[in-house]
Amino acid sequence: MVDRKKVAVIGGGVSGLAAAKAFDERGHRVCGFERSHDFGGVWELSRSYPDVQTQSPKDLYCYTDHPMPQDYPEWPKGPQVHAYLHSYAQKHNTARLFRLNTTVKTMERRADGRPGWTLTLEAGAQTWSEDFDFVSVCTGQFSEKNIISHPGQDDFVARGGEVMHSSEYTDPSVCAGKDVVVLGGSKSATDIAVNAAKNGARSVRLVYLENVWRVPYFVGGINFKRLLFMRAQEQQFNQWGKSPLQRVIAAVLKPLVWVNFRGLETLLKTQLKLKKHNMVPKVPIEKDVSCSIPIVTPGLIECLDKGQITPVLGTFDSYSKAGLKLSTGDTVPCDVAILAVGWKLGVPYLPQEFQEKLIEDDGQYRVYRLSVNPDLPDMGFVGFNSSFCTVLSAEMIANWLVRFADGKLSNQPSAGEMNQNIEMMLNWKRNERPAAKIYGGLCSAPFHFKHFDELLADMGATKKKRDNPLAEQFSYPNAAAFGSYLASTEQYQAG
Ligand SMILES: Cc1cc2nc3c(=O)[nH]c(=O)nc-3n(C[C@H](O)[C@H](O)[C@H](O)COP(=O)(O)OP(=O)(O)OC[C@H]3O[C@@H](n4cnc5c(N)ncnc54)[C@H](O)[C@@H]3O)c2cc1C
Repeated sequence: MVDRKKVAVIGGGVSGLAAAKAFDERGHRVCGFERSHDFGGVWELSRSYPDVQTQSPKDLYCYTDHPMPQDYPEWPKGPQVHAYLHSYAQKHNTARLFRLNTTVKTMERRADGRPGWTLTLEAGAQTWSEDFDFVSVCTGQFSEKNIISHPGQDDFVARGGEVMHSSEYTDPSVCAGKDVVVLGGSKSATDIAVNAAKNGARSVRLVYLENVWRVPYFVGGINFKRLLFMRAQEQQFNQWGKSPLQRVIAAVLKPLVWVNFRGLETLLKTQLKLKKHNMVPKVPIEKDVSCSIPIVTPGLIECLDKGQITPVLGTFDSYSKAGLKLSTGDTVPCDVAILAVGWKLGVPYLPQEFQEKLIEDDGQYRVYRLSVNPDLPDMGFVGFNSSFCTVLSAEMIANWLVRFADGKLSNQPSAGEMNQNIEMMLNWKRNERPAAKIYGGLCSAPFHFKHFDELLADMGATKKKRDNPLAEQFSYPNAAAFGSYLASTEQYQAG
């Protein structure tokens, strides 16, 4: 018999909605808290910059039981994703479980000594504390802006210049007739640079530290989901936990794999004209692939070709009356500086003593299956396993986490087993996955299938693969199929 728990879900984005549904479905009493006025997280409308669209194709960015509408484009726009998330909440009557405009300020162990946590909550002028038996942390990786400034910024703003974080770029008219400089090389940086160029900016410069591999929506004319998301492709990357036989096979196939990746690089260099624009990355593509690999913004190459966007390898040095001085030594004209410098990964409401158990000195997180830390009982993360199909990843780990909390995993791990696995994974990330440094390694891509295989095995799924072995090897993760695998795990009710 599983005890019915009072469960807090912090955050009402993709992950919070998945977690609330998973715990509610098992009969727990769910109390969700979202600090914004609306659901959606990064897709909430006031946080989305113009023209934002998914990087993932729509059938790779959906919950298992709720495909995106047929009339949505292959890569839905931000407001469409937002509407989709609302329709999911409506379908499962999830909104009733949440309090909006409510911020979790702190999380402490319960004063009564019982398992669980006491949350301090704030809604408007009201502050109160509440005890929970379990906490599902779903606050994402994009909740705290990375704020940076450069010498001379205050005077630049006093003279009428504008400096904003990428998430504040919601009105393209700020760029009309202006000299715009975007700092950063991520997808949001190129999205904003293209949007500014198309909305009448006098000049647009894209200033970034290093070239990275970018993937176009169509590689050599083929939708990238058909090339880059296959189990067969995933096995070519250096995975963790290989058996001796898998190591031998990998050694034998190494030359073929090398040729495959060099072929892909050549294709990308040609299609994206990377040499012409001095944008060829130094790192081999197989070392670079992680959640941070950007998809090419539509129109980017055309804007580069026409000189509407000038790429500059470097960073900002300082603002002056003459313009914006870059680390290259050049001073460029600038009226609007847009800092696409990302977000601070963290769990700020968790006191320092617990953060120390969770985060290593190099920023890597100690989380088993990218969800739980053995020294922080009665809590787990949903969304730390982000990927190229984050909605499915969130739903998978939410289902895993409720079973973990209830002691209902087929492979319920001991603290010792979790620590051993965490050490193995950290060692692998530090030595084999330099790209994992970004986001502290909280990304399951490009190992979607391997990660999901582990979760399904833990949950005791009796069905874990498609019947057709060819489809299983050469097709992308199918959300509906994963729904059937989840349905093959033990279905139980708490209370
Ligand atoms: C522009 C953009 C495009 C993207 N495109 C893709 C894509 O195509 N494919 C893909 O897989 N991923 C994509 N991502 C990654 C995206 O972050 C995930 O897909 C997913 O939306 C993350 O959802 P989440 O619920 O984990 O986090 P979030 O969406 O960040 O939601 C976290 C929520 O927690 C709330 N919160 C934070 N702190 C507190 C607190 N203390 N108290 C209460 N509430 C709190 C926040 O307000 C927020 O609503 C994209 C991200 C961005 C920014």
